[in-house]
Amino acid sequence: MSVSAIPIRTLKNNYAWLIVANRKHAAVIDPGEAGPVLQVLTEKGLTLDMILLTHLHPDHCGGTPELHRAFPEARIVMHPDDAGRVDFPVNQQVGEGDSIGFNENAITIMHLPCHTRGCVAYRITDYLFTGDTLFTAGCGKFFEGTATEMLANLNRLKNLPENLMICCGHEYTVENLAYATQADPDNAVLSERLATACRDEAAGRFLVPAPLSLELKTNPFLRLDNPQLQRNLGTGSDLETLIALYKIYYQQTPAT
Ligand SMILES: [Zn+2]
Ligand SMILES: [Zn+2]
Repeated sequence: MSVSAIPIRTLKNNYAWLIVANRKHAAVIDPGEAGPVLQVLTEKGLTLDMILLTHLHPDHCGGTPELHRAFPEARIVMHPDDAGRVDFPVNQQVGEGDSIGFNENAITIMHLPCHTRGCVAYRITDYLFTGDTLFTAGCGKFFEGTATEMLANLNRLKNLPENLMICCGHEYTVENLAYATQADPDNAVLSERLATACRDEAAGRFLVPAPLSLELKTNPFLRLDNPQLQRNLGTGSDLETLIALYKIYYQQTPAT
């Protein structure tokens, strides 16, 4: 059965995502606040079955208690490494390779520790919800992990099917593409994507989700082995390239 994924803007620049099956049942990913999510649920007459959290940061789970009060049957799902550090009860703890049924589809879990210890991505049909691990044209901060750990995560993500739609936790597309252009100035697909993203943003259009196929051509964090990128950055390995990119994006040197 087909599933749709609806982005909902929350807080300053966050996305919560609603996945809908049957036009009746919904699961929400990363409700940083409840209000905008409740509004869409009401408008569409949907019942909330699950609250899936990619990690413990409040801009991703802040709306959970209020949503759970509105839908007490909804299961709250999270990885154990982050579940022990939030101030609300988690109903189901999930880890690498686990699968949760959602109507007739399965949601599978990838554990991608680094941004936090308990970071996960959720995958259902052609959608991958990456939280703050992978952004459009960028990568999240390594708050609780090393560059080596993130490299392992990125290598897993870039080998997923190219038709997957990347649904990330923040709207950073234009600024990320601008950083990417600093590292990869001769990449024509990248310049074209930046121009399109600027036009779409000015027109008030959503810039997400983005197909993995486009990320593979324009997100430098998924192109660490690209010879031209390595030459531009003066690096000789994927790990060195990752560290050099992190310095451009975050003006910090990560632990390795
Ligand atoms: Zn975060
Ligand atoms: Zn965040």
